[in-house]
Order: sequence, then C-alpha cells, then structure tokens
Amino acid sequence: MTATSKVVEQVAVRLRAARRVLLLAHVTPDADALGSALALGLALESLKLEQHIVVSFGDDPMVVPRMLTCLPGAHLLADCHAIAADEQPFDVALSCDVSTLNRLGANQDAFLAAQTSIVVDHHASNTGFGDINLIDPSAPANAVLVLQIVDALGVVVTEEIAQAIYAGLITDTGNFKFPATNPAAHLVAARLLSTGMKHDFIARKMYDDDDFAAVQLLGRSLARSVLDREALHGTGFVWTTVTTEDRAALGVSIDGAERVIDTLRITSEAEVACVFKEDDHGIWKISLRSKGAVDVGLVAQTLGGGGHKFAAGATLGPDVSSAIDDVRRALDAVR
Ligand code: AMP
Ligand code: MN
Ligand code: MN
Repeated sequence: MTATSKVVEQVAVRLRAARRVLLLAHVTPDADALGSALALGLALESLKLEQHIVVSFGDDPMVVPRMLTCLPGAHLLADCHAIAADEQPFDVALSCDVSTLNRLGANQDAFLAAQTSIVVDHHASNTGFGDINLIDPSAPANAVLVLQIVDALGVVVTEEIAQAIYAGLITDTGNFKFPATNPAAHLVAARLLSTGMKHDFIARKMYDDDDFAAVQLLGRSLARSVLDREALHGTGFVWTTVTTEDRAALGVSIDGAERVIDTLRITSEAEVACVFKEDDHGIWKISLRSKGAVDVGLVAQTLGGGGHKFAAGATLGPDVSSAIDDVRRALDAVR
C-alpha cells in the first residue's frame, strides 16, 4: 500500500464515521474544486448513512459560475451564512483543490471549527493545513483523488458522480491538452465514460455555450491585446485586460471573462499569457498561463496568489497600471 492510498483509506474511514460533513471548494470555484466537492457529496449521499452533507464555497454572495450550473448535486449547496447560522460544528470538514487556508474565503472558520479537518489537493505548493492531508501533486486533477476516495468508500460510481469528476478532469487537463495529462487521466476518463455519463453534454455546457455578449467581450479584449516579443528573454509575453466598463456595456458578469485566457494563450510568439480581469469592486485579478519554460505558479506566488506551474492566478490591487508593472517585474525576477 502506498503512502497516498493509506491516507485515502484514512479519509474514507473518517467520512463514513461522521454525522455532519462539510465539503468545501475554493473561492471563485472552477470545475475541479466544485466538481470534486459535489462528487464526494453525492457519493456519501448514496451510502444512505443519514449524514447531514453540505457542499459550499466561501464567496459571499455564493453564486455558482454559469459554466458550472450543469454540475449535479446542487441540492447539497449552502452558503457561508447558512453554515454559520447552524452553529453546530461539523464532524468532518474536507477541502477540495484548496491550496491555502485563505482560499476557503468565508468558510475558513467553519473548516477550522470542525472536529477533523481534511485537505484533499494536488497543488505542489500545498503545505498541509488539515488534520489529515491527502496531497498528491502528480494527480492531473483533484477530482482524480476524489475518485480514489469514492472507491475507498465502496460507492458505485453513478452517472452523476462521474459527470462531476469528469468536469474537474477536463478542466485541469485543458481538455487533455495540458502537460498535466498523464495516462491516469485517460484511464480515469475511460472509466467515467463507461458509466454512460453524457460527456458531450458536460463539455458543451462548460466550454461551448456562451451568450453572444460574452463572445463579443472576448472580441473586445483580444482586439486590444499586447504582444511583447522581447519579454522573457525573447520568448515573449502577451497580455490583455477585461474591464468592468466593457462588461457593463455588454451586460456580462465576471464569469464571462474566464474565456479570454484560453484564446490569448494560443499566441505562438508568447511563452506566457496573462489576462487582467477587473471585478465588480474594481479589483484586478490575473490569469496566467505558461507553455512550459516559465513556472507561472511561482510568479503568482510572489504576487500573493498561487496555482500550478502552467496555470496560475492572483488578486492584485485597484490600479491596473501598477498591476501590469507588478506582473512584468515578477516575470523578470523568476526567470
Ligand atoms: P484561473 O486563471 O482563475 O483559471 O486560475 C488558474 C489556477 O491558479 C487555479 O486553478 C488556482 O490553482 C490558481 N489561482 C487562481 N487565483 C488564485 C489566487 N488568488 N490565489 C491562489 N491561487 C490562485
Ligand atoms: Mn482550482
Ligand atoms: Mn485543480
């Protein structure tokens, strides 16, 4: 038995024994975080152990991003206020795809108050802030670790559970394009598809189903993108902005900005791509992507954020020019 599989067993034992279980994704969740938490919630529910199962993420208000509304298990969701109003601590709180405690946002206290806290993650930077830590940076997605827990629980993987896990898998592997894609990613996908789950439905809802206004926002942002061929010792840097002004003019929420990086990053003249996104409070957030030569996870960490080697992010300040300067300086420093 490997060290990881021992921890998987330990996690399953704790989950089975708990009466009240809190499953948490990181703030502004992606499909790997929320899909993982929902899959685990559905798996526990299927065991009919008379548990109180809550899935949450610490955004206030807690609004499920549009591209994730296709995920099953929405009946398990409760926001940080409902959790705080409940006063009783949870027996087990388990975080999914959360690299640091502060990524739990408004759910940090509930996590810490639980009798047993469990961290399940695949970020190499995770230092282990739980009582039990299942951290495997070689996992292509957190959802793959969740599937191991589901198996250890003895749960039959239903189409719904498979869909939630698949959503995480395709997101973190960039639809099986990113370097994180390993043989295990395809083996897991094959197993999930064999449940009969509708992979085409999930893929379309998540990646090919945007409002026209969001498509236009993509156009505006790409039209003003900047390519600096000399940056990063000539390997190139491409960047652009998504402003609240543009979003307001087109009636697009911050979710609609998520697509921009996926297109910007295809620029062959640039090793690194960055999208600066202004949120509804005028704060700039960045999405960083690297083709391989630059560890943008490290770059994001120096900016107070985090992430993986090839995909990372951070929250900067209210001034876009200093945000751009900060990113350029951090890129220069890391290389
Ligand atoms: P995104 O560009 O928002 O898709 O984020 C890419 C990756 O960067 C995520 O999967 C997270 O691992 C990480 N990340 C994004 N924003 C932050 C942040 N503010 N703090 C820490 N990690 C982040
Ligand atoms: Mn994530
Ligand atoms: Mn992940």
